[in-house]
Amino acid sequence: MPSSTVENYLKAIWSLQGQQEGSDLVPIGQVAEKISVTPGTATTMMNQLLKKGLVDYTPRRGVLLSEAGRKAALLVLRRHRLVETFLVEIMKLDWAEVHEDAEVLEHVISDRLLARMDEMLDHPTHDPHGAPIPNAEGQLTPDGTAVLADCVPGSYTLQRVREDQPSFLQWLAEMDLMPGTNLVVTERNIEADTLTLELPNRAEPVQISLPAAKSLLVARP
Ligand SMILES: [Zn+2]
Repeated sequence: MPSSTVENYLKAIWSLQGQQEGSDLVPIGQVAEKISVTPGTATTMMNQLLKKGLVDYTPRRGVLLSEAGRKAALLVLRRHRLVETFLVEIMKLDWAEVHEDAEVLEHVISDRLLARMDEMLDHPTHDPHGAPIPNAEGQLTPDGTAVLADCVPGSYTLQRVREDQPSFLQWLAEMDLMPGTNLVVTERNIEADTLTLELPNRAEPVQISLPAAKSLLVARP
């Protein structure tokens, strides 16, 4: 099993890669920033990952995960998301408070324990935040969702919350805005940088800032 440091690098590159157009190389500066290390430290690590066959790395240009690196990153993501689901569903912890524990546990849970958790949860496909859980082969099925901030007025179903901040997750829970909730975008105001939403359990319309709406993924109901 790769060290937790290696796993965190793979996860960081995977998430940065996802935001790039096509298969553009991810600049090392971005990787360093994401993990809060100096570019020099990140560069040293890139050479180690390259030797292990986990990345395609071109000095001064950037990095992409190799097939093996992508699989390793998705298996860490599987552990993270299964642990979060276990902490919420079985241990009854608040969905807003499980991310930090999962960040630690994802590196130390054995395969045997993970398989048992998966079984106890009846092989869930999504975590409590609506994020898809990669399968045991490290494959992820695309979920065809759209970013709420980019949506025109209309009806949608919240699929996923792509944000770990407890305060934001608590606010969503207070609004009853959870994965599976149907909502209507009534206005998208670029000048005020807000979206106006109608929610099933709220008499009054709710405003959400466009930056916050970037972390909400929706689908047409
Ligand atoms: Zn998390």
